[in-house]
Amino acid sequence: MRPLARRSVILMPFARSSLLLAVLLGTASCGGVATYTEAPHLLVHGAAAPPSPASAPAIAHATWDEVFAHPAPLRVTAFVTGWVQAGPEILIDASDPRVPAADRVPQWVPTVAYLVEHPSLGRILLDTGVRAGDCAFGTRPFFWVPCRATPGGDVVSQLHERGLSARDLDYVFLSHFHGDHASGLAALLETARPNPPRLVTSRDELAAVRRGFRMRDGYIASMLQDDATVETIDDRLVPMPLVGRACDFFGDGSLWLVPTPGHTRGHVSAVLNLAGGPILLTFDASHLQAGFDLDVPPGVDTDETQARASLEHLRALAAAYPKMRVYSGHEPSQWSQAASVVVLAAP
Ligand SMILES: [Zn+2]
Repeated sequence: MRPLARRSVILMPFARSSLLLAVLLGTASCGGVATYTEAPHLLVHGAAAPPSPASAPAIAHATWDEVFAHPAPLRVTAFVTGWVQAGPEILIDASDPRVPAADRVPQWVPTVAYLVEHPSLGRILLDTGVRAGDCAFGTRPFFWVPCRATPGGDVVSQLHERGLSARDLDYVFLSHFHGDHASGLAALLETARPNPPRLVTSRDELAAVRRGFRMRDGYIASMLQDDATVETIDDRLVPMPLVGRACDFFGDGSLWLVPTPGHTRGHVSAVLNLAGGPILLTFDASHLQAGFDLDVPPGVDTDETQARASLEHLRALAAAYPKMRVYSGHEPSQWSQAASVVVLAAP
């Protein structure tokens, strides 16, 4: 991976806000805008934002029944960017006797990025997966994650394969900033210059990846440039049944971002509202299918109580809607080593 130029900037406290600036900067899909101009001292932050990235009216949804009654013609393509080696100390709490034997030993698990194409409101990449080439990552001696990149499986190559580039992405959402989800980001942004896609995550996740001693939470410094502009979903979270709060990303009920803290401080999962039935992308709220099915949280969490609550929320949603397809963050049986691209939904 080509290292990105790092500019020295001063980061503004996230709590400060400027409604005026949000208006000046244009719309933010789900919440405040933490950004700055080319001059570091002009770093600014807007808390309030118009409801959608385009001019589509925001639709009020009181229940998931109403949401799922109006599915959207999204195209959803999964890229298996690579495989990382991990054991139960990361993937699943093996102290639970119900955890199957296969998940009690180190295994190679997939790292997946999802391209979501909305017919009128833009393209969003959900996670970036791992970078091309040598994709192992970590901060020795604290942690080290072996990784095998899928040849041609990185998101830059996959977009190119489809006649697209990073410049054709409107947004890149990060469920969290661990290397198996975010190490593809640097190359993606490099190819998108000078008009990078808008980066989206939660306020807590952004704060976590930018705090000191972040290696303790499994982050490495190069996952996110200090000068990256990142938008946060928090100001547009609305109460939703079963999961607590969620952000209607495009404002039309097609893509929901659901805070699921615990594995990391600001982890976020996603729900895609599709005609064939909704898709739940747990990301690392549940690494393995056994964890989801058996209600066993990941092996490593920044807050286990939160992780258990987040998993309960997602399990309740899936239980209420049996047509929902659930993709865990790293379940190897859900992906083929032979195929790096899977179309999950096509209008
Ligand atoms: Zn992961």
